[in-house]
Amino acid sequence: MAKISIDDMAGFCKKKGFIFPNSEIYGGMAGFFDYGHLGSELKKNIKDSWWKYHVQDREDVIGIDGTIITHPKVWVASGHVESFLDIMLECTKCGEKIRADTFIEEKLKIAADGIKADAINSLIDDNNLVCPKCSSDFKKAEDFNLMFEIQVGPKKDSESMAYLRPETAQLMFTDFKLVYDSARAKLPFGIAQMGRAFRNEISPRNFLFRCREFEQMEIEYFIHPDKVQECPYIKEMLDYEFLVYSASMQDNKKPAGMMKLKDALKNKIIKTKWHAYWLSVEHKWFCDLGVNPKNLRIRQHLKEEKSHYALDTWDLEYNFPFGWKELQGMANRTDFDLRQHIKHSKKDLSIFDQETNKKVIPYVVAEPSLGVDRSFLVFMFDAYTTRKDEKGNEVVVLKLNPKIAPVKVGVFPLVNKLEEKAREVFDLLKKEFTCIFDRSGSIGRRYARADESGIPYCVTIDFDTLNDKQVTIRDRDTAKQKRVKIEELIGELKKLI
Ligand code: ATP
Repeated sequence: MAKISIDDMAGFCKKKGFIFPNSEIYGGMAGFFDYGHLGSELKKNIKDSWWKYHVQDREDVIGIDGTIITHPKVWVASGHVESFLDIMLECTKCGEKIRADTFIEEKLKIAADGIKADAINSLIDDNNLVCPKCSSDFKKAEDFNLMFEIQVGPKKDSESMAYLRPETAQLMFTDFKLVYDSARAKLPFGIAQMGRAFRNEISPRNFLFRCREFEQMEIEYFIHPDKVQECPYIKEMLDYEFLVYSASMQDNKKPAGMMKLKDALKNKIIKTKWHAYWLSVEHKWFCDLGVNPKNLRIRQHLKEEKSHYALDTWDLEYNFPFGWKELQGMANRTDFDLRQHIKHSKKDLSIFDQETNKKVIPYVVAEPSLGVDRSFLVFMFDAYTTRKDEKGNEVVVLKLNPKIAPVKVGVFPLVNKLEEKAREVFDLLKKEFTCIFDRSGSIGRRYARADESGIPYCVTIDFDTLNDKQVTIRDRDTAKQKRVKIEELIGELKKLI
């Protein structure tokens, strides 16, 4: 479990320039956050790493970058207009509005995702649940659509009504045929996209975990419908091990257990090879970037929480300070979305299968759907550690993986007299790495500030440097130091980073 509370993490992020509450001077806006100088770099590195791992390093995933506002019929076809709903509870006295399922989960310690309004009303009555703010009764629970409505163009009529996208995924279906033809794709292949999404969450909270404006990184992976068990990449992952929490373990009140992918398949816990493959690939991305596998688990949706279109859904969850929560959803959506868009657009989105000489509508066997901001939070929690300084004070060491650390190198002159030489080194390094130059305060203070910012390596220029043309590299995680020749510094740091 994470070592600090979510509120303390929010305070730390604000102090260090990772995240600020949006429009704070006007009182702020719930569910909106700005990324500061360190936060914007870290977020960019997370997104770049995701794109490289999922798109650039793979032959079978094609990237696109679509718009935020799109034809409103897209959201009718996808089902969002009718059913992208959360259930809302409103207090009869103070008017407080809260999201019903999370409220029920907290109060009654039961899974409530997917519960309908009638069932919520019964649970409220049976357990005498009241407003957490003023202890008055609730009105009857009602559905609340999470999409932000907007007007496009100068007219203000129903024709000009559109939505801010609540997910990036749908354009991967509407553009499916264009991508397939233009990229000369062959099944199996995926389409990936990252970008902003907007949800008018009833009660945004837990800092970045639930925002009203956030970013997603998503893939729709299309396969031949008859080949759900033919995953050519599965061999690479069969011995991969992760913490598994299946629906039957949850139903039988058994704890999650470590399991190899091959055993999860053999015991039919994960039903298709493709789904199993993507679960392990996604889990691995986090672990490769330094997240402790003990803090991650894959959890299968219970029957009642599964969306109507999904054959099977697993979430990648993280052990947040407020419990195990969804980090990434991974549904087997079959051909639901393509069929919906075929029906509503009346366009043929099937492809020709040369093996059988028949048209087929591909299956989306897995839809890895990940929030950028939630990932950001996970990397921050997992990297957050403390140590005692020389005076016995507790200081933070943010052990971010060097690949995603917002600043890779800090350059320090030991004393201000050495600034000129230190600037030379800084100018050399900043062509290769994101660097900062820090000359203020004792060297110990500067190391501590760098540790708090997650800077993996500091380079110090001292009086000996003027004679031996060597500098000291200090490692953030071990505080160990070593002397390196300036001419070998870039190569040495590249190796380390
Ligand atoms: P939840 O049950 O937590 O509301 P969800 O099941 O609605 O999430 P999805 O629609 O599956 O979420 O979205 C995919 C991913 O997008 C989530 O796993 C999460 O990482 C991210 N995400 C969704 N809603 C938000 C939000 N309001 N703020 C930040 N990230 C979000």
